[in-house]
Amino acid sequence: MKELKEAILTRGKAINQDVLLVDSFLNHQVDPVLMCHVGEAFADFFRDKAIDRIVTIESSGIAPATFTAYALGLPLVILKKQTSRIMKGDLIQTAVRSFTKGTEYQLTVKREFLPGNERVLFIDDFLASGEAAFGAIRLVEEAGAKVAGIGIVIEKSFQSGRERLEALGIPVCSLARVRAMGPDGIEFVD
Ligand code: 5GP
Repeated sequence: MKELKEAILTRGKAINQDVLLVDSFLNHQVDPVLMCHVGEAFADFFRDKAIDRIVTIESSGIAPATFTAYALGLPLVILKKQTSRIMKGDLIQTAVRSFTKGTEYQLTVKREFLPGNERVLFIDDFLASGEAAFGAIRLVEEAGAKVAGIGIVIEKSFQSGRERLEALGIPVCSLARVRAMGPDGIEFVD
């Protein structure tokens, strides 16, 4: 997606060879026009895949997932990284290792928001090693539903996530695929 790649090049910053900062338009300050186009791009790719529900992980996935859900006219469920005293009922949880923090969190969802037998589209801001996506897949499967697609805003193709997800046979749509990055700039696949 050309507009997204331009935003990455002009407004993103490679902190080092592994971590890309995109907090000026994606996950801290949000560019709603760009996110709307991101949502439309995912909707175009997944429209004929019989998706019932969109799922994302708080907080960085919420902006792209919301616009995708709106474009497809589908409900959106936000998987939580923390529980709270008011989060009661039948919960499904799985431990996930955070790429950016290096710590583990309990990915949590109320079972009532993930009906069984549905086809779910998982949307996230980044794909690195795939741990977040695998956590979402475990929760969705535990609920009796199926992840039928994965939409990633920025894939770091030099990390193992895509390969691991493709091995499961799930279609992955990444709108920007970073081949390499560092002090000399950011290179995309293609
Ligand atoms: P994975 O679980 O695939 O290893 O990492 C994906 C998660 O880590 C995403 O949900 C994202 O929030 C975070 N993440 C991974 N790589 C980056 C990065 O380069 N920059 C930022 N800002 N977040 C990242």
